[in-house]
Amino acid sequence: MRPYLLLDIDGVLIPFPDPDGSTPATHARHDVVPTGRSADDPVTIWLNPAHGPMLMDVIRTGLVKPVWCTSWRQDATTLVGPLLGLPSLPHVDLPRPKITTSQPNGYLWKRDHVDVWLGDAPAVWIDDDFTNLDHAWAVERTARGAATLLVQPDPRAGLQAEHLADARAWAEQLPATRTGAPVASSGTEAA
Ligand SMILES: [Mg+2]
Repeated sequence: MRPYLLLDIDGVLIPFPDPDGSTPATHARHDVVPTGRSADDPVTIWLNPAHGPMLMDVIRTGLVKPVWCTSWRQDATTLVGPLLGLPSLPHVDLPRPKITTSQPNGYLWKRDHVDVWLGDAPAVWIDDDFTNLDHAWAVERTARGAATLLVQPDPRAGLQAEHLADARAWAEQLPATRTGAPVASSGTEAA
């Protein structure tokens, strides 16, 4: 089984503005209308057009299974992905907790849901909001055979080429036998 590539959007593809309100010059402005919002009340987002090709370079290797893991939920697939030229990707169906911080219990609020969703699957997870408890969770998962890599961009800079290079290098070095599947000797290993 190939590892999942879990992808956040806010703070990763959409950088946080600097204190003066500016965003990186690499990013272009888009106005989108998230699900449940009125068409005359769009949300302005900033995306780096280079991120689409960068992500596709990793996706095309077939080393990982990309999945949105973001509070944009389905809108990641229908609104944000297409603006970067990305194909329709599945998403983790996260709930909508009433929280005022990303780490209401000292760790990323998505993590309990992701933990269940992943089961024992290996995963590389790119998000800007991990805490030390999340990193400890990743170490613990890896120790029990569910290889886990957390990649944490600076939310003001967002996703960089080095983050995807790290994800790719990690996926490339995963032992094929990690998932317990028999090692294919006939050359017909399932994708
Ligand atoms: Mg985020």
